[in-house]
Amino acid sequence: MTYKAEYIWIDGTEPTAKLRSKTKVLADGAEPPIWGFDGSSTNQATGDASDCVLKPAFICPDPIRGGADVLVLCEVLLTDMTPHPTNTRAMLTPLAEQYAEQDSWFGIEQEYTLFKDGRPYGFPVGGFPGPQGPYYCGIGADEVVGRDIVEKHLDACIAAGLKISGINAEVMPGQWEFQIGPAGPVEVADHLWIARYLLYRIAEDFGVAATLDPKPAKGDWNGAGAHTNFSTKAMREGYDPIITACEALSERAMEHIKGYGYGIEQRLTGHHETAPWSEFSYGVSNRGASVRIPWQVALEKKGYIEDRRPNANIDPYVVTRLIVGTVCSALEK
Ligand code: ADP
Ligand code: MN
Ligand code: MN
Ligand code: MN
Ligand code: MN
Repeated sequence: MTYKAEYIWIDGTEPTAKLRSKTKVLADGAEPPIWGFDGSSTNQATGDASDCVLKPAFICPDPIRGGADVLVLCEVLLTDMTPHPTNTRAMLTPLAEQYAEQDSWFGIEQEYTLFKDGRPYGFPVGGFPGPQGPYYCGIGADEVVGRDIVEKHLDACIAAGLKISGINAEVMPGQWEFQIGPAGPVEVADHLWIARYLLYRIAEDFGVAATLDPKPAKGDWNGAGAHTNFSTKAMREGYDPIITACEALSERAMEHIKGYGYGIEQRLTGHHETAPWSEFSYGVSNRGASVRIPWQVALEKKGYIEDRRPNANIDPYVVTRLIVGTVCSALEK
């Protein structure tokens, strides 16, 4: 007998990489082996030296096919078995290891927008829905669209064993959010990429495309972000490390902005619950700050911070690497 393994990897599309996948049929009991693909078709190689290597990195049950079938998230390697330049996971893992003792946790809020027939799901042909206001956490066919997809996606993430912590309808119609975490820097990113795969794959059956475009509708409509909640053991136990973390992020603000997703200037305008990308700020309860300290955290004098800057289209391996590199190194001093 056999089972199916869906090999999933991150390609070399610019400016924002996207997922690719293909299926391998394996004999029962066989581990998913190293495999390969045509890198000249994914912007990862040239035609005359097209082979790239797929190395299984994170495996979970495939809730779409069911049974013994699995999803296999892979790292892309060159044929000499060194990481491909697009392999950001390989850049994160040594740093995560270096600061493992600080026990960092991440919770990433992935916003996304459903599209059908070339416009946000629920937008009328040739026009716009009523202005923002009733849609966030809305209930009812006059306020939200796509809940059938969203519920299926939540169930699939749970069945795959992902650390998904919730979902909600967002401020713009057709826009939704799911949260992954709390989990360590590598795990949260692995789970987020698989959750994205499941979203695209499930929406596909409805003739709907999910996009991570940070500004999917121009004008007076909220963009799509990936607020990144973060703590270390020390931050979960006291307030000084929380302030140290905010100050460290302030010092390296521009380096972070560069890694927080293509088109970030279009989203971080200072309007629509954002802080301008060019000015770093932090504050208690402030959804107009770059980094928010939740009010309970300020009250209890311990907990976590929320970096509100990352775009929906981030590579989470890059964002967790930047935050661990900046904050954990500052807290070590
Ligand atoms: P918001 O109020 O900004 O919409 P959400 O509830 O959508 O926040 O998301 C908060 C995320 O932060 C969740 O994924 C949650 O698991 C995560 N989280 C909670 N506590 C911590 C912590 N101590 N460290 C890191 N992440 C955390
Ligand atoms: Mn072929
Ligand atoms: Mn949220
Ligand atoms: Mn949100
Ligand atoms: Mn948030």
